[in-house]
Amino acid sequence: MPSSIYIDFFDKLTFDNRFLQALPGDPETGSHRRQVQNACYSRVRPTPVSRPVLVAYSPDMAALLGWPDDVCRSDEFTQIFAGNRLAKGMEPYATCYGGHQFGHWAGQLGDGRAINLGDVISPAGQRWTLQLKGAGATPYSRSADGLAVLRSSIREFLCSEAMHHLGVPTTRALSVILTGEQVVRDMFYDGNAQLEPGAVVCRVAPSFTRFGHFQIFAARDDLETLKKLVDYTLAVDFADQGTLSITDWFEQVCIATADMIVHWQRVGFVHGVMNTDNLSILGLTIDYGPYGWLENYDPDWTPNTTDAQGRRYRFGNQPGIAYWNLVQLANALYPLINDVQPLQQALTAYSKRFERGYRAMMANKLGLQAFQTDDQALIDDALTLLQRVEADMTLFFRDLAGVATTSDFRQLLCQVSYRNLVDDDLSLVTQWFARYSARLREQALPDDERIALMNATNPQYVLRNYLAQEAIALAEQGDFSRVGELLELLRQPYTEQPGKSHFARKRPEWARHKPGCSMLSCSS
Ligand code: AMP
Ligand code: MG
Repeated sequence: MPSSIYIDFFDKLTFDNRFLQALPGDPETGSHRRQVQNACYSRVRPTPVSRPVLVAYSPDMAALLGWPDDVCRSDEFTQIFAGNRLAKGMEPYATCYGGHQFGHWAGQLGDGRAINLGDVISPAGQRWTLQLKGAGATPYSRSADGLAVLRSSIREFLCSEAMHHLGVPTTRALSVILTGEQVVRDMFYDGNAQLEPGAVVCRVAPSFTRFGHFQIFAARDDLETLKKLVDYTLAVDFADQGTLSITDWFEQVCIATADMIVHWQRVGFVHGVMNTDNLSILGLTIDYGPYGWLENYDPDWTPNTTDAQGRRYRFGNQPGIAYWNLVQLANALYPLINDVQPLQQALTAYSKRFERGYRAMMANKLGLQAFQTDDQALIDDALTLLQRVEADMTLFFRDLAGVATTSDFRQLLCQVSYRNLVDDDLSLVTQWFARYSARLREQALPDDERIALMNATNPQYVLRNYLAQEAIALAEQGDFSRVGELLELLRQPYTEQPGKSHFARKRPEWARHKPGCSMLSCSS
C-alpha cells in the first residue's frame, strides 16, 4: 500500500484533547527543566529518532482502537509511535504531578519521559489517551534524559498486555519500537554504565491521572488548579458514574484500588515502586518498572534492588501501601472538603472491600466457592506451608486443581518446590491436605465445577521474570520472535496451550540470582 493511504488513515482519526482545553497549561514551551506552577501540563514535542524499527505491537489493543493490522505494520505507524511524526489532531504534552517516593514527599515529578499525543476516540466511542514513554526530555525530566531502553520497554509492553488478559486492571501497550539511538544506563548504580539500545513504548489508557497529580497542587496550596483538575476528572474520567461528590469519587478510587490489589495478590504480581505518583485514580496498574512475579511464594520478596533495605514494596506489604497512598490522596483532597469524616469513611471502605475481596479470591484459588470464617486458618496455613517449602506460587495453585489424594498432594509439593522436602515438611503437608480435603467434601461442589473455578482463578502462564529476560536477550540480538511468542501465549493465560508447557515451568536454577530475572533496579 502506498504510504499516503496510512497518512490519510491517521489524519482522519478523531481526537478530543479536552485535557488541554479544560485545564490551565504552562505558558512556556520546550523541554528545558523547570518548576511548572499553576498548570496541569506543558506542551512539548517528542524528540525525533534516527532509525525506528517496530519490535512488536498488540493486535488486541489495535483492535480496541479500530486499527487494522496493515495500519500497525505501516511505516507511518512506526514513525508516529517512535515520536518522529504527528498525525492531525495530535497535540503533544507532558503533565505535572508530584508524589511520595518511598514514603517521602518528593515535590514536582511529572511526566519526565512520557508524552501524551492526545485522546483518540475509538469507533466504539471510547476515549483512549495515547502516550509515548521514552520519547525524549520534557520540563519534568529533572536530571534524567527522558529516554527508555529496550529491556525495560519490552518488560512494560509484554506485562501490560499479559496483565490485561489475566483480568487485572492495567494501562495497555500498543507498540514497542527501537529508536536506533544508544542510551547510557548504569543498571545497578555501581559505576558500570553501558550503552543500551533505546526504545519507545506507546502506552494507552482511558486516563493516566495519578494520585500525585492532585498532590502537587495541594502541596503548593494551589486550590484553584486542584479544584479544576478534580472537576475535570469527575466530568471526563468518571463520566459514566453520573454526578459524584468529591468524597463519593474518592470512595470510588478507594474501591478500584482495593480491587486492583486483590488481583495483584491473586496472580503473584509485585509492582516494585508503589510511590503515590505510580498509582492511577482509575485503579489501573501503571508504570511497569522493576516489577516481578513471585516464583517461590514469599510475602517478603521484592524484585526492586533499590528497595532491598526497607522492602517497603514487598509482596505482602502491597495492600497496606495502597492504603497509605490513599491516605495521601485524601490529604490532598481535604482542603476542598474540610471534613475528615467522609474521607475516613472512604478509607474504611477500602479496607473492607480489600478484606472481603481477598478472602473470596483466596477461597476461589483453593476451589472453594465461598469463604467461611474457618477458612482463614486454612488459607493462612497454606501460605505458611508454601513459604516454608519454597513452592512456586503459580504452579502450586494451578496444579492443585488436579490433585485428589494425599500421595498426589505430596508429590505435587515436591514437584513445585525449589528445595528438597524433608520428613518434617511432608508431615505438615499431609496434615494440611487432610483439612483441605475435608473442607472440599463439606462443600460438595462437583469436581468439574471446582476445577473450572480454580482454572479461571489460577493462571497457567504468567510473565515469569526469566521468560521476559530471555525474550529481551534475543531482542537485543535483533530477534523479536520470542516477544511475539510470549505476547501470543499470554493472551490466554488460563488455557493450557499445546507445545507451550516449557513456559509454565519452575524458574531454572541459573535464573535464581541473575540480574533482570530476580534483581531489577529503577534504572530503565
Ligand atoms: P518512576 O519511579 O520510574 O515512576 O519515575 C519517577 C519519576 O522520574 C517520574 O517523574 C518519571 O517521569 C521520572 N523519570 C524516570 N526515568 C526517567 C528518565 N529516564 N528521564 C526522565 N525522567 C525520568
Ligand atoms: Mg512513575
